[in-house]
Amino acid sequence: MDDVISATSLLTIPSMEADIRTTPKGFLCVLCNVNIPNQPSLEQHLKGRKHETLSNVRSTRKSQEERSVFVSGLKPDVSNSDVAEYFQRFGSITDVIMDKNKGVYAIVQFDEVAGVNAALSHDEHQLKGLKLRVKPREKKEFKLIPKKKNYFQNLQEVCERLKPELCQLTSVNAQMQYMVERFQLGENEKKSRSLVIQLLQEVFVEFFPDSQIIPFGSSVNTFGIHSCDLDLFLDLENTKVFQAHAKANMEQAGEGVSDDGRSEDSILSDIDLSTASPAELLDLVAVILKRCVPSVDKVNVVSTARLPVVKFQHKELHLQGDITLNNRLAVRNTRFLQLCSGAEERLRPLVYTLRLWAKQKQLAGNPSGAGPLLNNYALTLLVLYYLQNCEPPVLPTVNQLKDMACEEEECVIENWDCTFPTQAIAVPPSKNTQELCSLLAGFFSFYAQFEFATNVISLRTGRSDPLTNVQKAAADDDMQQDCSAKPPQGGPRIGPMNILDPFELSHNVAGNLNERTARSFQKECQEAEKYCRSLQYQVKSNKGKSWGLVRLLTPQGEGPQARMDLLTVSILLRSEGLPEDLQNQQHVAKDAFSVLWFQRVCAVVEGIFQNVLKCHLVSAPEVLEEGQDVDLSSSLDDSGLSVESPVNPGPNVGGKRPLSSGSDDSVSPHGKKPRLTKRGRSVLSPWLWEQRHSVWAGRRKVRRELIKDSEAKAEGSCVELETQVTTHITEKEPQLKEALQFKLQPQLVVATESTSTLLKFQPIQDSEGVFQDFFHFLEVFLPKMVDTMLVKRADNS
Ligand code: ATP
Ligand code: MG
Repeated sequence: MDDVISATSLLTIPSMEADIRTTPKGFLCVLCNVNIPNQPSLEQHLKGRKHETLSNVRSTRKSQEERSVFVSGLKPDVSNSDVAEYFQRFGSITDVIMDKNKGVYAIVQFDEVAGVNAALSHDEHQLKGLKLRVKPREKKEFKLIPKKKNYFQNLQEVCERLKPELCQLTSVNAQMQYMVERFQLGENEKKSRSLVIQLLQEVFVEFFPDSQIIPFGSSVNTFGIHSCDLDLFLDLENTKVFQAHAKANMEQAGEGVSDDGRSEDSILSDIDLSTASPAELLDLVAVILKRCVPSVDKVNVVSTARLPVVKFQHKELHLQGDITLNNRLAVRNTRFLQLCSGAEERLRPLVYTLRLWAKQKQLAGNPSGAGPLLNNYALTLLVLYYLQNCEPPVLPTVNQLKDMACEEEECVIENWDCTFPTQAIAVPPSKNTQELCSLLAGFFSFYAQFEFATNVISLRTGRSDPLTNVQKAAADDDMQQDCSAKPPQGGPRIGPMNILDPFELSHNVAGNLNERTARSFQKECQEAEKYCRSLQYQVKSNKGKSWGLVRLLTPQGEGPQARMDLLTVSILLRSEGLPEDLQNQQHVAKDAFSVLWFQRVCAVVEGIFQNVLKCHLVSAPEVLEEGQDVDLSSSLDDSGLSVESPVNPGPNVGGKRPLSSGSDDSVSPHGKKPRLTKRGRSVLSPWLWEQRHSVWAGRRKVRRELIKDSEAKAEGSCVELETQVTTHITEKEPQLKEALQFKLQPQLVVATESTSTLLKFQPIQDSEGVFQDFFHFLEVFLPKMVDTMLVKRADNS
């Protein structure tokens, strides 16, 4: 139980006692609803802005309450000024607040408490023939309304409650089955979703005769969870036919009469569906939703999405809905997912577990729909592809499914073949007998080694094709566009992870991913793979410790391995951005050229930290014995060769001679050239840098001031200007209380498709917690600055 704060501690914080309670973990400020760990923090809190603002708001409210009366018995035709005019006789009035909707009561606020007393002591109040009742205003306790929890906080709470439940079960298989039970949509939820669909159907058919609302996505694909959105497709095809008929009939019969009179007064007399743009139609849908569907609000057209959509919310059900217009393929791929889970009962537990794992590791579930993470559809396809590749396969390929379909089940949408059987019974059972826990571990092993950067995943064939083949096929397709049956869409958008949609073969469903997410996905698979080999995964703990799925579902960043691998900036080798002298050397062997470029980048990076960002070099790279490890994680998802660590630290290795001062880029310590080694072998240690100023903060403003009227220069495009900006900040802004120290280790990655330098960072001393900000700045700044410096350096030499 919370106690009121003790008398001794109150000596230092007079008059605050009412808001402060002691708790087992320190204090609680009930006004601000925050926990405070100790006495010094409590004193800080009480002097802080939040507490001060809330205290002021509270006393203003209190004083307003004391100076107001509550008036009832009004009618909607009584105006604000009528009320003010009447009550003025009791004292001067500062405000009259009327209830806008019903017009039956008002709060009248006087200048002084005397006005309240005078009004209350008056016997009978009459205004415009109405008898008014006047009461003292109710005194409400002032309470801070907590902000709505965001999705991630909610999820964490659910997971906290889930942990002990999972620990009690007897096997990982049971834990995975439990995930389905715990998260799947209940019968009532399904029913209320159907009612919303029915309601929308009834409204839309009034405006668009013969139209149909078809649900798709997680509400119906068997993988939905309690809070999932309601994806709907408004099919206007039949309405178009209806309108065309009506038009033809009208033209025949003169005018004004349609075949059944349905279109005369409907929206269809204002809009021609055959020529209207998608944007016009979506606007119309939004208007109907806003005006005609009860309980719907927050209607919003998002026309920038890949498929434009109208978003809405159902107030009572707290349901987020999306309506799209041209989404027959999504309806079909939803049927495909339904078929797969009908054919293979191990699929749902696997997908539910992996969806939560991916959310917890921040690999999937873009908060606002768009973003660089996997979406649930793409993640589910990764599961299906893995199951197609188990030995023996757990699921057939999409081409095999097509062969299992009968003639009536043939289906082509937008020229893409979407044929598969309607009934799961048509799919023969799998010969694979693996248990759920082993399939889950298998998923992690499969993707821990998968070469994402150079392969395209195809669920149609159940194989991955080299990127180069897919690109070539797309180019050939483009050339033969005129005679091809497929839509002229070109190839898929290639990215760090490439998963072809099983039907729309020109679409990479993971095209939105950035390199960081792809790398992080693989890294998490590698960590999970390791964990799945441990006893902790396989055997229930009798001592009540976490075991099985529990550790797999720990949020990202809380695991035992700190996630330093994500603090990486990558610099890509692009032949068009190279200085002339390097361009002239491109004829040499690829590996040798890559090393040359890498050395140059390292030298330039050192120059940027030392001269442009004015960091202090604490220790320079050292030669390590073969096999000796460095602190930073050295395993990468590179599919090719790698050179780790800065090269060419100068002859005095371990001393302070900077890389950039070396006159010959191609020579490393002891005159040796750095060698390309197979993954994971480090030959040199990282740099250790120190920075005493927040040189990343407020740069844009300083740059603007320094440039003044001269020609505007983009960030990172001018070495002198960036150096001046740093100098300005270091001279004008206060120092950090304690210097920030960080390690930096460059690594060359030569893969078949691309060559890059990865700059891996690790904060060593960051007592003020500023490293994340610095890193975010470097993510954008470094690639641009390296480009600029590479060219400049070549010009100077
Ligand atoms: P949830 O809403 O729980 O995240 P979901 O499966 O409904 O899962 P949405 O992003 O709402 O995912 O997408 C709805 C449906 O649209 C998917 O189930 C899928 O059928 C289709 N879809 C989503 N993204 C893609 C995509 N990139 N390519 C093709 N179809 C997609
Ligand atoms: Mg959805």
